[in-house]
Amino acid sequence: MHQDKLESFKKVLLAKKDAILEHNAQHQSNVEQMRNTKGDEADYATMSVENTLEGSIFQKHHQELEYIEVALEKIENGVYGVCEMCGEPIAHGRLKAKPYAKYCIVCREIVEKDLKDKV
Ligand SMILES: [Zn+2]
Repeated sequence: MHQDKLESFKKVLLAKKDAILEHNAQHQSNVEQMRNTKGDEADYATMSVENTLEGSIFQKHHQELEYIEVALEKIENGVYGVCEMCGEPIAHGRLKAKPYAKYCIVCREIVEKDLKDKV
């Protein structure tokens, strides 16, 4: 992949990382606020629902952050945009939609099918 394209993907990945870290910091302070708030039972019920929803977003972000770190490492090592399964370059359009994609479209389908078979 050309250096300028790599640079632009790196920028996208770093921007995503920043956005997630910012959201996580927000999440952290929300949780702390909830802990410090002593409301009545109704308030507590509302808060815990919100807390669960926030928590699942937090989990999702945590995983996304890991993927982003791996992709950034790949850029540094010069192996970014190569399918981990077949070693073929991942389509540019796919990387644009999902800059931390690990597999090309063909392998992605195989992996997904494999996962479904196991479940
Ligand atoms: Zn592949």
